[in-house]
Amino acid sequence: MDRKVRVRFAPSPTGPLHIGGVRTALYNYIFAKQNGGDLILRIEDTDSKRFVPGAEQYIMDALAWLGISFDEGVNEGGNYGPYRQSERKDIYRKYVDQLLDAGKAYIAFDTPEELEAARERIPNFQYDAHTRESMRNSLVMPKEEVDKLIADGVQYVVRFKVEPDREVVVNDLIRGEVKINSNIIDDKVLYKSADNLPTYHLANIVDDHLMEVTHVIRGEEWLPSAPLHVLLYEAFGWKDTMPQFVHLPLLLKPVGNGKLSKRDGDKLGFPVFLLEWKDPVTGEISSGYREKGYLPEAVVNFLALLGWNPGDDTEMMSMEDLIKKFSFAHCSKSGAKFDYKKGIWFNHEYIGLADNDRLAKLLEPTLEANGVKGCDPEYVAKAIGLVKGRADLVPDLWTQGDFFFKAPETYAEKDVKKRWSKETPEIMEELIGVLEGIDDMSSANAEKIVLDWIAEKGYHLGNVMNAFRLAVVGACRGPHMFDITELMPKEEVITRIKKAIRTIPTPTE
Ligand code: GLU
Repeated sequence: MDRKVRVRFAPSPTGPLHIGGVRTALYNYIFAKQNGGDLILRIEDTDSKRFVPGAEQYIMDALAWLGISFDEGVNEGGNYGPYRQSERKDIYRKYVDQLLDAGKAYIAFDTPEELEAARERIPNFQYDAHTRESMRNSLVMPKEEVDKLIADGVQYVVRFKVEPDREVVVNDLIRGEVKINSNIIDDKVLYKSADNLPTYHLANIVDDHLMEVTHVIRGEEWLPSAPLHVLLYEAFGWKDTMPQFVHLPLLLKPVGNGKLSKRDGDKLGFPVFLLEWKDPVTGEISSGYREKGYLPEAVVNFLALLGWNPGDDTEMMSMEDLIKKFSFAHCSKSGAKFDYKKGIWFNHEYIGLADNDRLAKLLEPTLEANGVKGCDPEYVAKAIGLVKGRADLVPDLWTQGDFFFKAPETYAEKDVKKRWSKETPEIMEELIGVLEGIDDMSSANAEKIVLDWIAEKGYHLGNVMNAFRLAVVGACRGPHMFDITELMPKEEVITRIKKAIRTIPTPTE
């Protein structure tokens, strides 16, 4: 087969894109890039009842943030459009008619009440070869009656006529051959006259065929639909160009069993969405990776390893590395535990690698929220450079480095008790004099001068340095003291020491 690789990400705009869907999009993107293929964004919006305004735009924004771009889609255009299923109604009707004409589908008039009654009458009711004769459909009703009902505007559905006792084989790149008996497949609804729209199954198959999709890469939750899809390809006579199926392992709860849910995230404090989402109906806000302070490259790396490994223990991989190394041969069949702590670890690593100017831009909203305005960007970037090794998420840059932007208002009690003694104010006065005499505040130079002074006077190094730190930072924390004083204007350092002398009560002994 030498068809050009064409894959699609086909979300339904029913709400914000869940992290599992994001991983699916990511694998599609990586696979397309690896094979010089095309990635299509197709919006599967045929279920009007579940349509959520804003969800489509959200999905596009979220994936763009992650660095996933599409070759064809709603925004990109392309030769296979339209890319929104709700705009393809006429196309589907033609294919529904094709199946009806070939006797591979039929029209059914059963009302919800009649279906309910059948469920009560027949144990484990399924609309199929064994039951369809007892229902109200075009297989058992005279043609005139069917035509009349349709002419009278009675609503109907078109059902797929699944042949019984057949072995259906789904060939899956991760799972191998999955075989099932057609008896367990029901006569799925393909089309509803009520809204003149196809259901997911029909639209999905028709579009994958028309868009010349070569690989269907999607979550495991769609595996149960795959046998039906195989039968549909067959019914249409498209078996030769049927895409290769790839069903990705589920994302599982970090603790306990079962599928990862939004509730797990709420409980354990991690987002399950890339971007913050405000529910248009309830107004409820769900947190997003971006707003929490994750870097997109960290999320990419973390997600890529949920269900796939490079075959060795390499962990840090850029999108480019992933495109080189990815292979379905190294995807697991079993679900991947959503180890969100590993996600934090990745973010910590990527913050460490990130450019300080970029981090400074990302920190802007946090600075503003804390009343810090008009700071020299170079100063911000340098301050970030000193604390980023201690940050897991972008806002940690603030909690770790707040003292670069605001003088302490209080002093950590525990540290005061331990480090601020009767002699401290006097020694700090002396330290001010020493600092005033230093022209070159570069870290190594200031350190040498201050340490020499401490040694000369026979002071206790730890006590003096910690009191110094307490005065400038407000607590015994932060990066190397002389790196701080290299960056912070000397007058500011001195003002802070003076303030500490004034404010911290001097112990009597
Ligand atoms: N519209 C389906 C979804 O929301 C697409 C499944 C598929 O990729 O076939 O995930």
